[in-house]
Amino acid sequence: MADHRKMWESLGLDMESHDQLMNVLPSTYGTVYLSQENRPKGMEYFDFVVNEVHGQRIQELQDHKAAGGKVIGAFCVYVPEEIVRAAGGIQVGLCSGVEIGTARAEKVLPRNICPLIKSFMGFKLGKVCPYFESCDMVVGETTCDGKKKAFEILNDYVPVHVMETPQMKREKDKALWLSEVQDFLAMVEEYTGNKVTADSLHQAIKETNAKRRALLRLNELRRHDPAPISGKDCLLIEQISMYDDVPRFTAQVNALCDELEVRVKEGKGVAATGAPRLILSGTPMALPNWKVPHVIETSGAVIVAEEMCTGLRYFENLVPEEGETVEQMVEAIANRYLDINCACFTPNDGRMERIVSLAGERKADGVINCTLAFCDPYLVEANRVAKTLKEHNIPLLNLETDYGQEDTAQIKTRVEAFLEMLGNR
Ligand code: SF4
Ligand code: SF4
Repeated sequence: MADHRKMWESLGLDMESHDQLMNVLPSTYGTVYLSQENRPKGMEYFDFVVNEVHGQRIQELQDHKAAGGKVIGAFCVYVPEEIVRAAGGIQVGLCSGVEIGTARAEKVLPRNICPLIKSFMGFKLGKVCPYFESCDMVVGETTCDGKKKAFEILNDYVPVHVMETPQMKREKDKALWLSEVQDFLAMVEEYTGNKVTADSLHQAIKETNAKRRALLRLNELRRHDPAPISGKDCLLIEQISMYDDVPRFTAQVNALCDELEVRVKEGKGVAATGAPRLILSGTPMALPNWKVPHVIETSGAVIVAEEMCTGLRYFENLVPEEGETVEQMVEAIANRYLDINCACFTPNDGRMERIVSLAGERKADGVINCTLAFCDPYLVEANRVAKTLKEHNIPLLNLETDYGQEDTAQIKTRVEAFLEMLGNR
């Protein structure tokens, strides 16, 4: 990795804690990713991105800021990135997938709160994330109670704009959400100093759709047996999609898909034909949370879809491109986002239907529903997932975990037992 220390110091990072984080990442990445066999060559770009995770992209953000641009952070796939893009800003997903700064976070948060919330507070209070420190502001949402209240505290350290996400999907909820998206647009215009025009919004919709289409194309290729790419690699790409440069990322995913199409024609894959095919469902797995996928794929199975926000929920719906005025496009954006099936909604039947249809499309042998500890929406909804999958005779393993490594062996035992049960069916 090039020497970026001066840049990190100028961002005010706690260099000692940051060094600790950067020392752990390469060995974890080597074990989880570089040890895989038959990896597509197109993964080299994504290896480079991880290798430069706090380097090249951060430099690009600094250059953008030096030229008068704004950087806006988000934690949820409900924040409409098209609008930030149309106003000339850059939106970055703040990952929160690692246990860090816990002691500091627990000074302002209760101990029994989900690891994702604790992680983002730890990142901010510990000053270890150059993405966070590059953000001029952060956009929160009222999806779950923990985040909603944590954003009040986060606002003490960085300006936070909170969008009110409805909890139901009735007409009056749609109207509320549309007004929130309209307010968001006005706020972004004021913050960036740039007016969103019909042209700039149309262009941003097209570019973001192109990114989502590339991810969809990649995911469609996973229908094949043998799967041409591992679930771990796909998850990594989905995690990187939240912060990489949009056109460059899109081109790289499409180049990878070209390679995978050849693999499919040649019958080549990353796992043996007939290897157990699983769908991973549940709470998002933010970078660098790779624990469960690594356990699954080193136990002989292959993950063929992520029914998660670091997965299909992020890219399976596109914004219609027919709108001509800003108002029409904003409405199309609001409708598109409200189609995301987060467990914060009640009821959330769309998610149940999607898991079932996905299992059929991907010829999955089973589903692993993985929830972060203390995440009430997904933990409670695990009951609905179990009921639905039972009705459809789809095998299910429910897991609850956090960002620690202590339960890895226990998860492995449970995954292996699940795979053995699938083999006996
Ligand atoms: S699970 Fe819900 S709150 Fe979390 S990123 Fe997805 S939509 Fe947002
Ligand atoms: S993982 Fe669950 S509890 Fe944590 S922020 Fe997301 S929805 Fe909220």
